[in-house]
Amino acid sequence: MTSIVLFGPPGAGKGTQAARITDSTGLPQVSTGDMLRAAVKNGTETGMAAKQYMDAGQLVPDSIIIDLIKERVLEKDAQNGLMFDGFPRTVPQAEALAEITEVSHVISIEVPDERIVERICGRYSCASCGAVYHDTFNPTSTEGVCDQCGSKEMKRRADDNESTVLQRLGAYHEQTSPLADWYDAKGIFHRIDGDRDIDQITVDILQALE
Ligand code: AMP
Repeated sequence: MTSIVLFGPPGAGKGTQAARITDSTGLPQVSTGDMLRAAVKNGTETGMAAKQYMDAGQLVPDSIIIDLIKERVLEKDAQNGLMFDGFPRTVPQAEALAEITEVSHVISIEVPDERIVERICGRYSCASCGAVYHDTFNPTSTEGVCDQCGSKEMKRRADDNESTVLQRLGAYHEQTSPLADWYDAKGIFHRIDGDRDIDQITVDILQALE
């Protein structure tokens, strides 16, 4: 089992790129953020424990996240590896992951802080297929209609507001960015300029994965 990690601040475009490269890699996308939002929606024990941290823009405790991942890797589609989006976010999470699967590439999508707030505050996604859009940078071709699946139901995340974004960015710099050195030391860390055209970023990611 060999896996890929998509790394970067909130709003870097990890989810957008994951959806685009999943066909080429054949690896299922695993977003801990999506898993947690589903748990909150379903009112599970994990969701109830995680909600307060998510609402505050803080990281959910490592033990909760690591348990989620340990369960996820047992699923049948994980046999050949997974593409992690938004995980690991701390060194203990990365250490736990190293015990579960080999990581062949860490793709770091880099976007300056000053661009993050505008990117996150305008984003929305299709409630049906999850395709991600942005009011200014990547709108649907027809207003309110998903380009991918034609659904007319769009949604915005509760934590995509300016004050929570600033908290999330703080958590990223304090707790997650130290992981860059951790992975860089292993020689598997690839830096991609994420402040460019979405297609160009995809091309560069696929090249890094070759
Ligand atoms: P995301 O969708 O990746 O932006 O995650 C949304 C929120 O879920 C974050 O602000 C955290 O509260 C929580 N979260 C998601 N993934 C993790 C993780 N790997 N470690 C800790 N908290 C996480």
